Amino acid sequence: MNRSRAFLAGVAAVGTAVTTLAAAPGATAHQLPRAHGPKNVIVMISDGWGYNHIAATDYYQYGRTGTQVYEHFGLRTAMSTYSVEGSYSSRATWSSFAQTASGATDSAAASTAMSTGAKTLDGAIGKDRSGKDLVHAFQVAERAGRSTGVVTSVQFSHATPAGFVAHNTTRNDYSGIAREMIYNSATDVVMGAGSPCHDANGRANGCTGSTKYVGGATTWADLTDTDGALGADANGDGKKDPWTLVQSRQAFQQLAHGRTPRRVLGVAQADQTLQQGRACTTTATNPLTEVTGCAETPYETGGNTSVPTLSEMSAAALNVLDQDRDGFGLMVEGGAVDWASHANSLGRLIEEQAEFNRAVQTVVQWIGSHGGWKNNLLVVTGDHECGYLTGPGSDPTWTKVVNKGRGHLPLAEFHSSDHTNSLIPFYAQGSGAERLFAAADQHDSVRGRYLDNTELGSTLKRLLAG
Ligand SMILES: [Zn+2]
Repeated sequence: MNRSRAFLAGVAAVGTAVTTLAAAPGATAHQLPRAHGPKNVIVMISDGWGYNHIAATDYYQYGRTGTQVYEHFGLRTAMSTYSVEGSYSSRATWSSFAQTASGATDSAAASTAMSTGAKTLDGAIGKDRSGKDLVHAFQVAERAGRSTGVVTSVQFSHATPAGFVAHNTTRNDYSGIAREMIYNSATDVVMGAGSPCHDANGRANGCTGSTKYVGGATTWADLTDTDGALGADANGDGKKDPWTLVQSRQAFQQLAHGRTPRRVLGVAQADQTLQQGRACTTTATNPLTEVTGCAETPYETGGNTSVPTLSEMSAAALNVLDQDRDGFGLMVEGGAVDWASHANSLGRLIEEQAEFNRAVQTVVQWIGSHGGWKNNLLVVTGDHECGYLTGPGSDPTWTKVVNKGRGHLPLAEFHSSDHTNSLIPFYAQGSGAERLFAAADQHDSVRGRYLDNTELGSTLKRLLAG
């Protein structure tokens, strides 16, 4: 088989995605509720995911693909993710294995695009390339009387949650970003890791850790000072809306039911991320990238038990935000899929993606008992692919991830320790999904129709303004 035919066979092995739209099982496009937009808009981002991250996790969790609730959503399409100095070419991507490993975005520019509808420079948060503040979709939502929230499994001041709330020329100014979220934003729920008083294993460290992720020593003192007077006017009634700080897993779990405070800042008891950074007993070096990472199989060592899961944080956030009769906007990030991918650690990647999948399930169940798809829009996507995860023996062609059955690590390999410019999976269901379907009007020879990350941002702004 000559090279080009072998190559095309390799491309075919990647599998073509087809963009379809069925708002709810059995419905066709013309039955979609066009009259009014969604009351609530929920965007769930698996940071660093790609098609093979989903397949590898499906195989480990269930021994077959197509098992996740979002894989059956009405809108199943792809999204381009490049930042302001980048671009995406279907021809270039599928004519050279190495192509997609260059020209990738970072998470700051990606989340800014998905939140504001504008491309910007890598590293920028809520600012355009000239440094001018951009308007976030959640700011539009707040002006329309809605509540808003961001939840993540990494530090709450990290690039993706920051990219939906803050404005900063650099994602690395964690303290400045945290202070904007805490003192100046109108956001009602902010949850993530970043505790200066706990380590990567969730153990107390006498508060000797860095306070930069929570706004610096003064802000942390303000936050933990029991008078609870900290926080700006979040609902525009001219009165301060103080934050309620929660830290213990139990406190997060209790927020999922019954009455709750109006504004909640949740700092889980881990320094950087809930699980992925915990101690690892076995490491291995990937000969393709020379990256040494955790080589444990999923859950080989028990996880941290003193921190909430992403599902528990999502349930808590929904119950806090749901108090607002005007509706809400919520972003939930599985942030450490990316970290495990940078480390070429398949076991930890699958742990993180599986927990993200459970969080999506939790949100879908919540929607089922809170107005259904008529009142809610759920978007499930990523911000960029990370690790260039493929099937075994790829390069120069692409092979499929190999299923080894439920509970067994599938066969896959990482060809990068960084982000790629691949198109990523994008799923949506509910009121307003038809607008995202209409935006998916570009075409890729392998993935089919796709939209750009800025089109998500501009659509969110339109839907949340109403
Ligand atoms: Zn990354």
